[in-house]
Amino acid sequence: MGGSDLVVRGATLLDRRCADVWVRGGALAAVTPPGLDVPEGTGELDAAGRVLLPAFADLHTHLDKARTLPAAESLDVPRDEARIRVAAERTRRIKLGRTEEQVRATAVRVVGDLVARGTTAVRTHADVDLSVGLRGVRALLDVRRRVADLADVQVTVLPTEPGWRHGGEALALIEEAASLDGVQALGGATSFDPDPVGYTDAVLALARRHGLDVDLHVDECDDPTELTLEHVAERTIEVGYEGRVVAGHCSSLGIARTSDAARIAAKVAAAGITVVAMPLTNLYLLGAVGGEPRTRGMTNVRALFEAGARVAVASDNMEDPFMPFGCGDLLQTAALAGAVGQCGSPLDRRRLVDAVTVVPRQAMAGWRGAVGLEPGATGDLVLLDLDDPDRLLAAQPGRAAVIRRGRIVAGHAAAAPRW
Ligand SMILES: [Zn+2]
Repeated sequence: MGGSDLVVRGATLLDRRCADVWVRGGALAAVTPPGLDVPEGTGELDAAGRVLLPAFADLHTHLDKARTLPAAESLDVPRDEARIRVAAERTRRIKLGRTEEQVRATAVRVVGDLVARGTTAVRTHADVDLSVGLRGVRALLDVRRRVADLADVQVTVLPTEPGWRHGGEALALIEEAASLDGVQALGGATSFDPDPVGYTDAVLALARRHGLDVDLHVDECDDPTELTLEHVAERTIEVGYEGRVVAGHCSSLGIARTSDAARIAAKVAAAGITVVAMPLTNLYLLGAVGGEPRTRGMTNVRALFEAGARVAVASDNMEDPFMPFGCGDLLQTAALAGAVGQCGSPLDRRRLVDAVTVVPRQAMAGWRGAVGLEPGATGDLVLLDLDDPDRLLAAQPGRAAVIRRGRIVAGHAAAAPRW
């Protein structure tokens, strides 16, 4: 896909340099000291010292469930189970009544709102089971095409039929979904299977057979001894899938013994796995029923940072049975991850910004190719109403301009042609 020519002048970069940033034909062409000479007709945007970042990327969402909360709240579902089970049951019943068109229309609106907040890359899971069949995945693949001018959307097949991996109609359906043109990854949820290790191996084998990336919900539970993540890391190396595996949640790592967390985080780093922390949903969902002291659900961002592992921070659910709040604001979510994870040093603050910009985008690209402000990267940028990059998470600035392949698609600043 092509793009536009734009120079953003006088921007403050994350490392505090003042720079001109040139996007040519939709791709990052150069980052130079102010005064860059560009061809006539190139659009110009005066940053006036504002902070310019690579646009945000949301590595883990569920666009097929987004904004289904009102329908969910009218359902009579027993409340005596863990919240995650109640949410799953509510979701199961809501999705029976939703058409492909309803899923598509809502998801398109949600992507528009994410773009307005500076996000131009989104990976979404799509439930596939015998009740919804391929409706959700087909709807989201269509959304992917429809919003291509605004954002890169990747679709992960999420098998939601219990026992699907053991064969029969359910496995055939997952195979069919995995074969659909445009599907990026195969997912699943290890904690919903009685044998999380066997489950992991089944997903990896199926993904490899279809040439797909892997994007699993791993250890989304309150049990500090359920540490499937270690096996995910070991298997990833064994099968040579480094850079192609994303592990979402990894909640139990957050309550594991310190020595276990350090050992596993090192293996995760060696396996090139990207761990996705999702503080908003997990603070709400986990630890609400059962043992004391209550757990808080988010993974151990601190141990992962210290091990040099790849960490992304993502939205997960937005106004659905799993999470009644959440608007997909990744700066807000990064700040929350820093607070819950107790990561607040200047280096941590920089890592948290990376966790919503370059890291998720690299994970979506299989850790290949240019990202961020490197020449050749997609010309997707976000200009923020702030001049001090160290205050991004504290100040929560507005979006002056959201730039998609060199074209301003949202924000209050406008590009003027240069004459
Ligand atoms: Zn999820």
